[in-house]
Formats: sequence, structure tokens, C-alpha cells
Amino acid sequence: MTKAKPQTDAHWKNYIAGEWCDSENNISITNPATGKPFATIACASIEDAGKAVDAARLIADSGVLTKDRPASRVQMMLAIADNIREITEEGAELLVRENGKSLADARSEFDNAARYFEYYGGMADKIEGKSIPLGDDYVDFTYYEPFGVSAQIVPWNFPVDICARSLAPALAAGNAVIVKSPELTPLAMTLLATACEKAGLPKGALSILCGIGSEVGAALVANPKVDQIVFTGSVPTGQHILKSAADNATPCVMELGGKSAAVVFPDVDKQQFLDSVAWGIFFNAGQVCSAMSRILVHEDIYDEVVTDIEKLAKSLSVASGESVELTPVISKEQHSQVLSMCNVAVAEGARLVTGGKAVDDKEGFYVEPTVFADIKPEMTIFQNEVFGPVVSITSFKTEEEAWKLANGTDFGLVAGVFTNDLSRTMRATRALKAGQIFVNEWFAGGIETPFGGLKMSGFGREKGQEALYSYVNTKNVAIKVNNSTD
Ligand code: NAD
Repeated sequence: MTKAKPQTDAHWKNYIAGEWCDSENNISITNPATGKPFATIACASIEDAGKAVDAARLIADSGVLTKDRPASRVQMMLAIADNIREITEEGAELLVRENGKSLADARSEFDNAARYFEYYGGMADKIEGKSIPLGDDYVDFTYYEPFGVSAQIVPWNFPVDICARSLAPALAAGNAVIVKSPELTPLAMTLLATACEKAGLPKGALSILCGIGSEVGAALVANPKVDQIVFTGSVPTGQHILKSAADNATPCVMELGGKSAAVVFPDVDKQQFLDSVAWGIFFNAGQVCSAMSRILVHEDIYDEVVTDIEKLAKSLSVASGESVELTPVISKEQHSQVLSMCNVAVAEGARLVTGGKAVDDKEGFYVEPTVFADIKPEMTIFQNEVFGPVVSITSFKTEEEAWKLANGTDFGLVAGVFTNDLSRTMRATRALKAGQIFVNEWFAGGIETPFGGLKMSGFGREKGQEALYSYVNTKNVAIKVNNSTD
């Protein structure tokens, strides 16, 4: 297979307005499994970001992206999906090296990326306006028009998947896009630009550049030529971006953090639940916005569930590579942050069941699978996102208490309920305050199902048909009809 990337393994360029560009400075990329740097990428400047926005503005205003029948956009999107599938193996290996995740998860990021292009490609010729009845004296209809220039800022935990999640609907709707890739994991997602370039996406319709968030990201957000901002990342950065976006009244989609709870009742299917725990909190080393970071267990089965989760945590294979169960966290800083949050939990009186320290025999950024029990709502570990393989368990007596505990943080991204009682399930789906509710399987859903948060977890929706409408403006046209025949 020919290599997709237009650069060497050791040094990468940014894709700016249809050109592969170097920069005066570089960013060094470290393998979390070894703690050693293995590549560099050009560090885009504020001027580079400006150049990308200017090119996007030009092509958006030229009408080139929307003048043809939308069916041609469908073909473009499907060609991009095919190209992504072709580079999956090469890209997944690279993603493992820069992110530390398992090869199976890295492959599934590329698979999801291709699926986003297929899914939204299938919608590109179905963005239909409405005809609104106003009586015989008027004709009224709506257009859905692309915003024009969409600036998208991506985090490091699922860089390829999250990049495609916003890029695909934005392009399907006819926008030009500038993506700011994360400083820690920019390489594999740069390959998405090669997939778009090879499919013939016009120059200027896409830039993917890596730069320092507080400089290049901030400059993109503040640029008055940007029509829309899509941000996926932490709450403090999101708040910063919202304040900056307010200056130009730029609309935003905000996908922020979470502290999501699974509520477990005595009639649970135990094995089904434990499979969800393995996946829910230990997948990607817990660095998932929708991780099952809290587990609320009915008091009748509390002790036995704590013991089962302890056994599960101790049984996980810890490494980076093919299909391991616990991979390293992303960086030295994240490693220290996770361990420091574990220390705070112990200091505040949480019971450490297992873990809470670095894995002894590994040189990379590994944290032991960690379980805390007897957690109280006022503890930091109950309230704050750890973004590591750390789960906190609490008991409850009544259903009402369970919903109150689950809803008792500033976040509202996801929540889950594990029970075989249908009526209780239905009560849970109303009582839990979150953008999505998982029943008897954590992460149930797919690219077809809308995803997003409430409260400090953000607003706007990604994924599903609904997300496409995050990338268009509604324009209403009202026409007065002269019905007089004189
Ligand atoms: P982060 O906020 O530190 O960085 C995210 C991105 O923002 C990076 O590309 C960074 O360079 C950029 N950035 C930083 N400062 C900026 C600024 N002032 N202006 C513009 N851009 C700036 O987040 P992170 O550590 O990369 O990601 C982890 C966080 O992301 C967690 O809180 C997690 O829950 C959240 N997350 C949310 C979702 C979701 O869909 N809701 C998905 C994945 C991650």
C-alpha cells in the first residue's frame, strides 16, 4: 500500500489552504507507552491560522461549495470515506504511538471516521427546507444554508473520531472548515486531510493545523471571519472560548466534560453490568468524556458489587498495543494529575479499594486501575472529572436518592441505569439529567444517535441526523401573493 502522508515518519506538516506547510517552530510528539518523543509537527503560527481562515472565507463566499447539485457533495463525501478506509492500518498504528491507545480502539476511530463521512454524505442531498402554510395570501418557505466558515477545535483523547464527527457534517452541509488539532496527538488526524485532498475537496475548503491552543486556537475563535465554532474539550477552555466568541456573537457548539453515573439496582444482570464497567471506565484509560466515573449501587448489593469491581480492576491486562484492556494515560502531566486526584480522595476520606498509584514495572504513563468506595457527594472525587482509570462507588437506599446523587454534580453529559424493571427504567429516563441515558449497556448508541451535554457539559448536539442542523442557518422567506386578478 502506498503511504498516504506527504511527510516523513519523523516530521509532519500542517495542511493549510490546500498546501502542506512547515513552520519556524515544531511541536514534539511523545509516545505515552514509553514516555519518549518520536516525531515532530510544524507548530502553526497565528498568521497560519489567519491564512486558513482567509482561504476558507474566500471559498465559502465564492459559492463553489454549494453551487452544484448536492448529489456531487454526496459523491465527494463517499470518496473521502473510501480514502479513510484505505489508510486505516497506517493511521491506526500512528494513533497508537501518539496516543497510547490499543490498536483495536485506534482502528475503530478510523472506522468511525469513515462512517461519519458515509452517514453525513447520505444526508448531503436531503437538507430540505420547509413550506409553511400562511393562507392564500402568502407563500412561505425555509432554506437551510451553511454557516460558511466553521472553526473546529479538537481534543487529544479521540482525535480522529472527534475530528470527523464535526468535519463530516460541516462539509456535507457545504461549509469550509479549519480544524485546530491537539498539541499532544495531531499526527493521525492530519491523515484525514490527505483523504479529503485525494477525493478532490477544493483548496481552501479544509485546513487542519496544529498550534498552541491558547495562541492559535484563541486566534481562530476571535477571528471575525469565522461564522461558527465547534469546541470539544475541557470546561475551562470552553468557558474561555465562549467569552471570546461573545465579542463577535459567533454561534458555538460546546462538547465539554462529564462526571457520569451508572445507577445499579439489585435486579441487574451482573455480568452484563461488569462488562459495561470494564468498558465504561477502563476503556482508553478512562480518558473518555462520557466515562462511567461514578457507580451508584443499591445498598442490598453494594458490598458484593464493590468486590466484583475490585476483582475486575485487578484482572485487567495493562499495556499498549493490540487489544489490551488498560493503556497509559496521555502525558506525564495527566499522569501526575490523576495520581494527585487519587491522593486528594484518600485525604478526604474515600476508601481506596485498589490502585491509586503508578504501575511499577512500566516506563510509560500508566496508572493502576483504581477503585474508590464509600464516596460522599461533597468529596472532590465525586464532583470533578479525573480523566483517568478511576471509578468512585457510592451506595443508595431509595430510587429518589439514586437520581439525586446521579444528578448531583455540575455536569450532565451521560447517565446510565442497570435494572430489568421496565417501569423503573422509564422513570430513570425522565429523572436523570443528562444528554443521553444508557440502559443496561454503557456507551450504547452510535454515530446515528445524537450526543451532547446539559449543564456544564455543554450544549448543541453532535452525531445523528440532528447534528447536521448544528452546521446550517435557517433562513425564512415570506412572499406576499397578490391574489387580485384585476
Ligand atoms: P483542553 O480544553 O485542554 O483542549 C482542547 C483543545 O482546545 C486543544 O486542541 C487545545 O489546544 C485547545 N485550546 C486550549 N486553549 C484554548 C484557547 N484558549 N482557545 C482555543 N482553543 C484552545 O481539553 P483536553 O485536555 O484536550 O481534552 C480533555 C477534555 O475534553 C475533558 O474535559 C473531556 O471531558 C473533554 N471531552 C469532551 C468530549 C465531548 O464530546 N463532550 C469529547 C472528548 C473530550
